[in-house]
Amino acid sequence: MNASHDQPDTPDPTPDALLAARPHLARHALDGLLLEGVPLAAIARDLGTPTWVYGAGTIRARYRALAAALAAARLPAHVHFAVKANDRLAVLRLLGSAGAGADVVSGGELLRARAAGIPPARIVFSGVGKTAEELRLALSQGIAQINVESAEELAMLSVIAAGMGRVAPVALRVNPDVDAGTHAKISTGRARDKFGIPYAGAAALYAHAAGLPGIAPVGLALHIGSQIRSLAPFRAAYGRIAALVRDLRAAGQAVRLVDCGGGLGIPYRDEPVPSPEGLAAVIAEAFGGLDVGVLLEPGRWLVGPAGVLLAAVILVKRDGGSRFVVLDAAMNDLARPAIYDAWHGIVPVGAADLAAPLSPADVVGPVCESSDTFARDRLLPPLAPGALVAILEAGAYGSVMSSTYNARPLAAEALVEDGRWAPIRPRQELAAQWRDETVPNWLE
Ligand SMILES: *Cc1c(COP(=O)(O)O)cnc(C)c1O
Repeated sequence: MNASHDQPDTPDPTPDALLAARPHLARHALDGLLLEGVPLAAIARDLGTPTWVYGAGTIRARYRALAAALAAARLPAHVHFAVKANDRLAVLRLLGSAGAGADVVSGGELLRARAAGIPPARIVFSGVGKTAEELRLALSQGIAQINVESAEELAMLSVIAAGMGRVAPVALRVNPDVDAGTHAKISTGRARDKFGIPYAGAAALYAHAAGLPGIAPVGLALHIGSQIRSLAPFRAAYGRIAALVRDLRAAGQAVRLVDCGGGLGIPYRDEPVPSPEGLAAVIAEAFGGLDVGVLLEPGRWLVGPAGVLLAAVILVKRDGGSRFVVLDAAMNDLARPAIYDAWHGIVPVGAADLAAPLSPADVVGPVCESSDTFARDRLLPPLAPGALVAILEAGAYGSVMSSTYNARPLAAEALVEDGRWAPIRPRQELAAQWRDETVPNWLE
């Protein structure tokens, strides 16, 4: 996929411009960059780097803004946070206590959501390949809804549920065959993507489901992709699903709810994105007159802007005319630039660096891959070894996608709120990486 999708042909926003558009970040003349009032340098001093830092106030405010937009559009809607975007217990607890449910895509995420205190009645299970064991777990926990993605999965779930003497509340995930206009690797709603039940066969499968033992079809679900930056694909997809609701009802089926999925985009490079009010209006336009309950499964939109990846400069390498700023964070920590050609803002943390003149630099990590590059030709201050930077919009699909490639430990994580902060996960102890490994005795 052409990288230009994420990197439009306009000059990169400067650190000043990025900060001006992000009210949760502020600069202090002595303490440098603050996240929700807390100096990021203080967190780095205590926890070291790289460290993920999330603003609880920002997450809460975003949840409230989305819930308010849905309420203002008179939608009987409930928000289920897509746990895969950020599955830390502290993040799940704070969203759960704000009123959110959880959209999970594995047994592990289901148990994480439960461990964070989210009740089963507010959990929805999505995903194209749930194992028999995961389906049994979902049924034994009594979660609200299983989004079934194929006729094969429906048959499997029917056998399992009937065998357990349970009835599974099922929404059929329909593939509306709409191009979300997003990066190919995060598009899910085209006919050639692996997700969902083909639109043309969905009505027949719904009727079939209604007759299966252990299955109670309750509605339809869709999710067309992630980081969607215009309302048009949502409008097209929701229109198709609304038509399917009408067809099903005309054929005598009960359809109680529509799960509208996630996908709402956020500004990384200060590109325009739809507002929650805009999305609510599109949902209301499609489903407002249908007397259906509405579910939403946002992940990135709720948590992405709230997080930063705090990193320190190891050294600055000068090569001819180029300047390479080598960070102690790498693609194993934040994988999005390497996987999706994603653009992330990078701003200095130190008070002096925040005021220093800018010149272009490539910002890279120490991993032995050329794709371990966070930014090219980015206007940044001198950034001496030891200087701190914050990589922005790292709250979603950040730490959850981390690996220990190059035997690098998983980074520490912290949560900030109301001027205070607390660690929420320690940096992984190096020996923990091999503690459970064994060497076969014939090698001894
Ligand atoms: C990933 C995913 C989401 C969340 O997507 P975002 O773009 O983070 O909002 C919602 N629903 C399903 C089924 C998903 O797979």
